[in-house]
Formats: sequence, C-alpha cells, structure tokens
Amino acid sequence: MKTENFQFKKKFGQNFLTDTNLLKAIVTDAGVTSEDNVLEIGAGAGALTNEIANATKGKIVSVEIDKTLEPILKENLKAHNNVEVVFGDILKLDPQEIAKKFDNKPFRVVANLPYYISTPIIFYLIESELAIKSITVMLQKELADRICAKPNSKDYGGISVVLGLYGEVRKTRDVPRQLFTPQPNVDSAVISLEINPQHAENIKEISKVVKVCFAMRRKTLANNLMQGFGIDREKANQILQNCGLSPTARAETLEKEQYVCLFNELKKENIL
Ligand code: SAM
Repeated sequence: MKTENFQFKKKFGQNFLTDTNLLKAIVTDAGVTSEDNVLEIGAGAGALTNEIANATKGKIVSVEIDKTLEPILKENLKAHNNVEVVFGDILKLDPQEIAKKFDNKPFRVVANLPYYISTPIIFYLIESELAIKSITVMLQKELADRICAKPNSKDYGGISVVLGLYGEVRKTRDVPRQLFTPQPNVDSAVISLEINPQHAENIKEISKVVKVCFAMRRKTLANNLMQGFGIDREKANQILQNCGLSPTARAETLEKEQYVCLFNELKKENIL
C-alpha cells in the first residue's frame, strides 16, 4: 500500500494498518464470504479495503471523510472493480443512501474505526435500521472491554447492553499499538458482532430506553425514567415493578434482558 508523502491527519484518527496477516485476520474474524456485500468506514489508504476485496466478489462501499486520500485510494485499489469509495462523514450520511448502494440487500460492516468517534459510529449503525448482518471493528482496547463488560462492573454501560442485545459479541483479538502507522498512544482490540434478528427490529427504541436508564449512573432507575420520559414517580415505579425491579435499583445492576422488559412495558403504556 502506498502512502508516500501523505500527511496523516490526527483530527481524523488516521492510524493506518499495514500488517497483511492482521488485515487478513480481521476479514476472517468478520466471516466475509465470497458473495458478501461489505460496508467499510474509513478507507484510509485502502489496506483493509484491499483485503476485503480479496475475500468477496460482492459490493464493497467504503466511506472516507478525507478527500485528499482520493489519488492514493485510486492507485491502491485499482485491481478491484467491486469497490466504491464514498467521500463524506459517515455520521452525516443518510442511512437510506447506504441501503440504496447495496440495493437494499444485507451487508457486513468491517472497519478499523477512527478512535475519536468510534462510539457515535457504533450507535449510528445500530440506530440506522439498516440490514446489517454483522459488525467487525477495530476499537480502542478500553472501549472493547466496555462493550464486553458484564453487569455490576464499572465498565458495564449503555453500549454493553445495547450491543449485547443487538447480537452475539466476541472480542476476537488484541492488537498492540506498534502495528499502526503513525503509532497511537493506546492499544486496540477487534470485536465482532453477529446480529440477532429477533432484537434488531426494535433496537432503536431499546437503545433509547437504555440511554435514559444510564443517563445519570448514580441515580436510581425510577429517577432516570421520570426524568427521561417525563412520567411521574407512581408510573415509573409501576413499570419497574412489572419487570420485577426495585425502584431504587441502578442501571448497572440490570441484565440486558431486563431492558427488553422495560422496553415492552414502556411500549405498552404508550410512553415510547
Ligand atoms: N482502514 C484504514 C486502515 O485500516 O489502515 C484506515 C483506518 S483509520 C483508523 C480511520 C479512517 O477513518 C481514516 O482514514 C479517517 O480519515 C477516516 N475517518 C475519520 N472520521 C471519519 C468520518 N466521520 N467518516 C468517514 N471516515 C472517517
């Protein structure tokens, strides 16, 4: 992959990968088969894009914010005619535009995410209601640990619950900082998530409930529900009781399935 004379931009989280074995391993972790369509976020110099394209004849769409990478990407991806690079900010892209590029067919997400917006990108994907089969992404190690955390630990938060409900999450590998150019100040890890279609259809609203419950970690669930949904204490207590929860319980003590119960109760009461 050629990146000669390229000025890396810190503000875009540009830490590129060059280790071919690692790049191939990420594509394997993602379970990309020869027919899969793939969305990549952050093409960079095209190193991961190129390995994805070696693995599938399906369509690959890669969204990249930095237009100055265009000539490098043209050169580095010229062997593949199934790759379309879209220049723009993924967070500003209408999900329908992405759906159209894949003819509304399902696709996998594979990416080495920019650290500074990894969490918003993950929530963007989850809340987009797109036909995503799996998400396999390189993240800062601490975020990967948070995503995989269990209840009653300090790492457990909204993102652990929502991703845990959206699918089966696995950490597939730790990646030391030395493998990136330029080298970042943090280590990384790859997580892979096979989407569970059972919850995928409600995940946007479930995500809203989870965010409300974790809005003020130190407050009780009853207080967060009252504040987040503008309901009175009696109603909040009743909803919690219907899910077998104490009004004084805190968000970090709930198993992910208990959030599905809260979602169902809030829906029944027309609060969502
Ligand atoms: N995929 C390449 C690799 O593995 O070497 C590059 C990964 S680098 C960690 C992240 C890439 O995301 C950079 O190329 C950066 O310019 C791009 N990027 C940053 N913010 C973005 C955004 N909001 N939308 C799309 N791409 C973005």
